[in-house]
Amino acid sequence: MNIVHCVWNFTLDGVAHQVVLQRKPFASYEILHNGKQVYKGEPSWLVLGLSHIFQVEEHKFEVGAVPGPYLMDYVLRVDGNFVYLNKSQEKVFSKNIAKNLEYQSDWEKLAKILGLKYQPHLESDYAFRHRIVGYFSKFPVVAGVGSKPMGNVSVPGFFIGIQHYPLDDEKIEQIKKSDSLKQFFKSVKTHQAHLEIDPSFTSIFVPFQGKINEMGRSTVIQDFLEMITHFLYPPHQKCQGNDCKNPFSKTLNFVIINGSPWLMCADCIAEIPNEHKKMEQEYRQAPLNLGRGVLYGAAVATIGAILLALSIIFFDRLAGVFAFFMYAYVFMAMDKAKMKRTLISVVLAGVISIFGVMFGVYLGTVGYALKEREIIFSLIELWNIFLRLIQSEVFPQMVFINIIGMVLYGFYGLYAQRQYLKQAFNPKVEVIKNLNRPE
Ligand SMILES: [Zn+2]
Repeated sequence: MNIVHCVWNFTLDGVAHQVVLQRKPFASYEILHNGKQVYKGEPSWLVLGLSHIFQVEEHKFEVGAVPGPYLMDYVLRVDGNFVYLNKSQEKVFSKNIAKNLEYQSDWEKLAKILGLKYQPHLESDYAFRHRIVGYFSKFPVVAGVGSKPMGNVSVPGFFIGIQHYPLDDEKIEQIKKSDSLKQFFKSVKTHQAHLEIDPSFTSIFVPFQGKINEMGRSTVIQDFLEMITHFLYPPHQKCQGNDCKNPFSKTLNFVIINGSPWLMCADCIAEIPNEHKKMEQEYRQAPLNLGRGVLYGAAVATIGAILLALSIIFFDRLAGVFAFFMYAYVFMAMDKAKMKRTLISVVLAGVISIFGVMFGVYLGTVGYALKEREIIFSLIELWNIFLRLIQSEVFPQMVFINIIGMVLYGFYGLYAQRQYLKQAFNPKVEVIKNLNRPE
């Protein structure tokens, strides 16, 4: 039984050809040409897409999957021309699918111009799949469509990552202040572009201005690569594995680890899972930083309480908003203090922020009463206000809003971090084959 089964029969230069694409349940795609297997993918639940190119004499055959109006549609192109399964497929194609493929060919063209290889990330949604990898002059480069969390939303855009010879701090400053970089930022018309320069790795993320797909035509990637490589030297032809025994003597592979390009020997690539297991252990053994976290959190809660009190005294109730944001700020302060994000820290941030809010409400009420001359300053009056407050509906309300903040911010933050760590400790490693470094 096949869950995918497509058969294309056609003639080329008077010779009959048959291409079959099939996929069995729990298995990956398989492609046959004239009865002979030309491709078999790794069995994986994750693989959503397919893009395979093979050569038949002087002809380029390309089998791929593109999202159609309902389900995936499978396409065969021979030397860039579609071969249709039937009339109805031709009809569907002329509409939406052709457009999707056009974006893909934009990326393929870009790859060609830059001397890179179109290597779609098949585990991503179609719009986020396009990616080009390889050597730009002698720099290992990965670029494509991706997304980056900004605040609480994930923004789509381009990413570009370049490996280079290590830079010193002075050089990094010089690049950051350079006119050509300023010019580049001006040309992409966004203030959100996110540039990071590490000693040996430079990356940029440029959010999209328009629709995702239309960006395939953009020259952002080309402009950036041409601009930035003027400042850089290519990395040494040396294995970049952490503890490589023979960094200079081995054949190097171009490998993408969690989206970043590296050059490594086969031994070091095999070591990657162990290396990350070690990192995970170190993380687990790292101190919780509880004291520091609580101190930072309490300091922020105190400032928040004073602001809250002032808002009650002068504007008469903005307390609800503060109760919500108090949680977020305490949480961020604990992160700043490098307190490990755990269930304990999420709950502690809640407790601290509730105390902060209560303290603020109390201060505010006292201040308000004094301002309006409802009370005279005495310990008895201060105690009375406290008693009245804890019996009122104000505190339960604050606790309720605080809990909303805790769920939205704390638990989400914890979840996001778990996801991040999971990826960091179980990196995705892709070895890109058939790439030649230019001499
Ligand atoms: Zn190595």
